[in-house]
Amino acid sequence: MSAPDFASLGVTARLLDALQSLGYEQPTPIQAQSIPLLLEGKNLLGTAQTGTGKTAAFALPLLSRLDPAQRTPQILVLTPTRELAIQVAEAFQGYARFMKDFHVLPIYGGQDMLSQLKALKRGIQVVVGTPGRILDHLRRRSLNLSELRAVVLDEADEMLRMGFIDDVETILAETPATTQRALFSATMPPAIRRIVGNYLGDASEVKIENKTRTVERINQVYLMVNSRHKLDALTRILEVENFDGMIIFVRTKSATVELAERLEARGFAASALNGDLNQQLRERTIDRLKKGTLDILVATDVAARGLDVDRISHVINYDIPYDNESYVHRIGRTGRAGREGKAILFVTDKERRLLRSIESTTRQPITPMSLPTGQQVSDQRIQDFQQRIVKNLNAEGLEKFRDLLRAMAREQDIDIADIAASLAMQAQLERPLFPKLAEIRSPVAAPERKPRPPVREPEVAVGKREPRKRPPAHSDFPELKMERFRIEAGRNQGVQPKDIVGAIANEADIESQYIGRISLHDDYSTVDLPEGMPRDLFEHLKKVRVCQHPMNLRRIDITENVGIPGEGDKPPRRKFTGPEASNRKSARSGPRKRKAESNAGKHPRR
Ligand code: AMP
Repeated sequence: MSAPDFASLGVTARLLDALQSLGYEQPTPIQAQSIPLLLEGKNLLGTAQTGTGKTAAFALPLLSRLDPAQRTPQILVLTPTRELAIQVAEAFQGYARFMKDFHVLPIYGGQDMLSQLKALKRGIQVVVGTPGRILDHLRRRSLNLSELRAVVLDEADEMLRMGFIDDVETILAETPATTQRALFSATMPPAIRRIVGNYLGDASEVKIENKTRTVERINQVYLMVNSRHKLDALTRILEVENFDGMIIFVRTKSATVELAERLEARGFAASALNGDLNQQLRERTIDRLKKGTLDILVATDVAARGLDVDRISHVINYDIPYDNESYVHRIGRTGRAGREGKAILFVTDKERRLLRSIESTTRQPITPMSLPTGQQVSDQRIQDFQQRIVKNLNAEGLEKFRDLLRAMAREQDIDIADIAASLAMQAQLERPLFPKLAEIRSPVAAPERKPRPPVREPEVAVGKREPRKRPPAHSDFPELKMERFRIEAGRNQGVQPKDIVGAIANEADIESQYIGRISLHDDYSTVDLPEGMPRDLFEHLKKVRVCQHPMNLRRIDITENVGIPGEGDKPPRRKFTGPEASNRKSARSGPRKRKAESNAGKHPRR
């Protein structure tokens, strides 16, 4: 697992400083392979999915070759969605934080055209955008690609699936012949291979080897969780899991420190283990874990390499690893010396593919777990509380307190149970026995995400477009209640179903699969959306424009206007947010058997 560092790969000093401040410790496998090739100016074909570090794999070498003096676009990145465009643009901004006069611009439909035009005039070095809107700018001549040095197709298979591939080809044809080209895709369907053949010439190929490995004796589970709920989910797990020693894996050095501090603030004995620790401190930390004076280590891959501590009963992949090899290495820190181990993997909605890929590597299913409920947390606390009390019954000097309370009960005529209840209430203040926990929802309730329909940006049409194929409609949740809305623009205004989907998906951040039946009429349209749209969202959507016409969205009776089905009729799909997955089995079977002894000096221990 020894990997080169970023400096030896040839990344420039300013970028190295940025990586240092971001806490990146070492290149991920896709970065180690791609960076030198792109620095040499080669075309690149990368088989990599989100979560492998592919953005930095192309951003770092391309930024290293950037000419700060050139004010016309030098790098163009095409992405399938506006979310990814924003994310990639932010990544560029982060890596270029110490580069003077650096400008990156995300461009996507639904965004105000004028402000984009203004920004483009100001001088931009990197443009990241969705194909439709980029093409519009090319046609308006507001985007000048004549001096482009590099173009990247990010998530090419997604662009294909969303019906953007013709636009992508048109854009590629407009880039100078000398442009360096890179294409990243999780899969390589024939249409992508064709683009590679036509535009990437003799591209170097990089992919992450997924050697198959089996991991025995380790119970592997995963939890679907939103990034913003990870910490709460983790603390609940720490409360109810019967663990001895634990390693929590995160991606960056800074994250080790941050998470360890947050856990400590919540009463858990946790410590960071990262490459910044000197040898002495590292050894001392590991020693504390071995001896049991410390239970939780928050580590990066590099720092935990070779760690061999028998009492590690749990590994938590707080951030999913970049590649399957790392996953196998990480979870191999548990299940040592013939013991059983448990590995818990946090997966965000976007990381489902990585999960499947890991599963095929380990040749073992990773079973879904459900988030411990407030009731489970409460039960566990009560059990710990009772154990503490029972254990203390034999403590020396208890007699004095017994006499004191008996006297108090007699003198003040209070039931001894009431005194005990009052004391119990005070004793649990810091770790309430009946906590009110924040609601945490799984990101998506569906067992597996289906292909997304093409979300076209509601762009201002410039020139004619090729008609696109519609994706297969699919009804994951036919039982969902939908509401019907009227939109004050229809066929006569040039509206197509994709424009409505695009406007709603992009403007309201409603995933396209939640958008139901669309009916087009001459001067208006209707769309079905899941019941219960928040008021502010509704107000916002009213003002959104579709094909340059304000939607003026309003609710109508669901029985109205079902008559003339438009070409874009689709069955209803999902809700705004999915309900908690009810089909998930609890990871814990039976009551927890944590030893009172092993509790001493553990968790809050308050
Ligand atoms: P990506 O696959 O490009 O979407 O990246 C996934 C996540 O990994 C992002 O949050 C990046 O900031 C992070 N990341 C990428 N490369 C590294 C690295 N070498 N070390 C630590 N984190 C990284």
